[in-house]
Amino acid sequence: MNMNCKESQALMDAYFDDELDLVRSLEMERHLAECPGCARLHDQRRVLRVGLSSNALRHSAPADLKAAVRTAIAAQTASGKSSRKPSNKWLLYRIPAMAAAVVSEYLELKARGAL
Ligand SMILES: [Zn+2]
Repeated sequence: MNMNCKESQALMDAYFDDELDLVRSLEMERHLAECPGCARLHDQRRVLRVGLSSNALRHSAPADLKAAVRTAIAAQTASGKSSRKPSNKWLLYRIPAMAAAVVSEYLELKARGAL
């Protein structure tokens, strides 16, 4: 049975993860060899996966943030309570903001085709 583009694209992640049985894998390879559109999608996905697995996307937290987190954890551990002190409240906003910044940078790089 020949695979169509809709099936090919639905199974592409499973193909990358080596989760397809032999027959489906061979159908996928045949379709990718015959269909430029799906072959292009396959290449884009391969490049994205390589980019995601590289260290280029790793960002270390600034030293002052690491120190502040350690201090806050030590203070909570020492007090033995889970109540937050007002002086540590900024951490609750800064960590999600940094995560959002990393995601935003990733999406911008992806949109520019750098990945
Ligand atoms: Zn196709």
